[in-house]
Amino acid sequence: MDFRSDTVTKPSQAMRDAMINAAVGDDVYGDDPTVNELEQWAAERHGFEAALYTSSGTQANLLGLMAHCERGDEYLCGQQAHNYLYEAGGAAVLGSIQPQPIENNPDGSLDIAKLKAAVKPDDSHFARTKLLSLENTINGKVLPLEYLASARQFVDEYGLSMHLDGARVYNAAVALDIDVREIAKYFDSMTICLSKGLGAPIGSLLLGSKEYIAKARRLRKMVGGGMRQAGILAAAGKIALTENVEQLKVDHQNAKYLATELAKLPGFSVKAEYVHTNIVFAKLDESVDIKTITAKLADDGFTVTASNPLRLVTHRDVTKQHIELLIEKLNKYI
Ligand SMILES: *Cc1c(COP(=O)(O)O)cnc(C)c1O
Repeated sequence: MDFRSDTVTKPSQAMRDAMINAAVGDDVYGDDPTVNELEQWAAERHGFEAALYTSSGTQANLLGLMAHCERGDEYLCGQQAHNYLYEAGGAAVLGSIQPQPIENNPDGSLDIAKLKAAVKPDDSHFARTKLLSLENTINGKVLPLEYLASARQFVDEYGLSMHLDGARVYNAAVALDIDVREIAKYFDSMTICLSKGLGAPIGSLLLGSKEYIAKARRLRKMVGGGMRQAGILAAAGKIALTENVEQLKVDHQNAKYLATELAKLPGFSVKAEYVHTNIVFAKLDESVDIKTITAKLADDGFTVTASNPLRLVTHRDVTKQHIELLIEKLNKYI
């Protein structure tokens, strides 16, 4: 019972069967029919011209940023953005792209006035501002559609492009009960992680225009991301998108239940209004010795990261019964 992340999900039997039976070829030659089919299908499904299958979400973001920006360009992003904080500085290191982080609002959005103030004038002192990169969901929070519309208006006004780190964009779409295209339509490019709540073992997608994806494909080869018989993995990726989206609704219900129960524990505070999807944060006061508690939980078969705030993630491999049991144990150990 692993609550660290939705990345721990294991491939379903349907995925394993599809992987065994996948038709494959050498994808670097463009010969893998399963990868080609996934890329064509995903482009159409999400309202883009083209798609690229990548080895990870980090790689999809890196290629995505590098395909928008040249050396000496910059992208605007959130201080809490995954592609600023958690990707080893890849865009700066490998792309020579300068990030310009903006403090995230409590709801995860970036203040449009602050974004406008951060756009650099065309002057040889400055990096060239090219791109706004948003993240949805961000720390489990869904950006409102009205916010996406205002961000689009901002980038259009300033001649920038707009990228979505959509690692969990399906969680956002399911939480809003809308088709994922209703989110995707605001963006020039978007990533999707197939290997989180959607349950594929490996893989992400980058979506965009034909020209943009052709550029990203070259960059993927450059960073060593050209894979050969990748159809074995892409077969599971297709199932993630066709069969596993519904499950996210259950994950979100479980997260809400978990948040409600955690909030009842002494020393735990949960901002329930920000539990939109499958991630729950609980701030712990000093009375809670989380290291000792997580060590005891480990003996009971629960894997939980000892952190403050405590971050618990629901997914297809944890059930409501597991959560009930977790709460029971937490009550005992506090
Ligand atoms: C997980 C995640 C990524 C990176 O995905 P990996 O496949 O782990 O490299 C990118 N962005 C966000 C928002 C994520 O949650």
